[in-house]
Amino acid sequence: MCRHAAWLGAPRPLTALIHEPPHGLLRQSYAPRRQRHGTVNADGFGMAWYPAPAQDPVRYRRSIPIWADANLPGLARVAASGCLLAAVRCATTGMPVEESATAPFTEGRWLLSHNGRVARDAVRGLADSAESACDSAWLAAAVFQRLRATPLPGDAPAPFAGDVPGPLPGDVPASSLVLGDVLAEVVTAAAAKDPDARLNLLATDGTTLAATAWGDTLFHRRRPDGVLVASEPLSDDPGWRPVPDRSLLLAGPGDLHVRPL
Ligand code: GLN
Repeated sequence: MCRHAAWLGAPRPLTALIHEPPHGLLRQSYAPRRQRHGTVNADGFGMAWYPAPAQDPVRYRRSIPIWADANLPGLARVAASGCLLAAVRCATTGMPVEESATAPFTEGRWLLSHNGRVARDAVRGLADSAESACDSAWLAAAVFQRLRATPLPGDAPAPFAGDVPGPLPGDVPASSLVLGDVLAEVVTAAAAKDPDARLNLLATDGTTLAATAWGDTLFHRRRPDGVLVASEPLSDDPGWRPVPDRSLLLAGPGDLHVRPL
């Protein structure tokens, strides 16, 4: 089980996910506190940021432990944006340890990370091809393939089907709903084929975060200037809230919704 984390809000450097918090991803790579599968996340790491709001993200990933990259702290200090995603990896037995198997996966403006495990036979049918034989790469390919094929329904806000109770979030953009729907579709399709699958996905298009909790831990923390979503809390701050298993989370900079899957 790997660990992943994302930020959406006021611009911040990637050190805000990795180095600065007492239990940031650097610490989580060797001493995770909530990890249920695997003990050390030393099989690679990755991070991505959006250099400008309308631009595709820049992704940096390696297949070495995050603590072994001496150039990373300097890069993470200057790699800043209003949307960040980073991950550390503990490869599932039988999966290749290589850069192309390491999250975040990316296509166009989208980024995706996976915590968990799924039988490759269960995901190979969900996409035409993937950049690695790793199960996570196939999941990413399945998500990107569906996003590519889904036209955005204009700018009109659409209702978020599962948000109960309370008013519908009129400020959730249509692109967020599409991202959430595609994650939900891929997770339920993969789980139907492999009931033991663990499918915590974390994805973004730079304007919204979408995440599933399916078999492992997921937390969020709202702040005045944005929202954090992570496999486990980056600190002991009491503001961290667990996301129930088998849920879909959608978050904008000032807005967060969770619905059952
Ligand atoms: N199964 C994925 C891999 O091998 C993710 C592993 C994990 O979450 N530990 O990379």
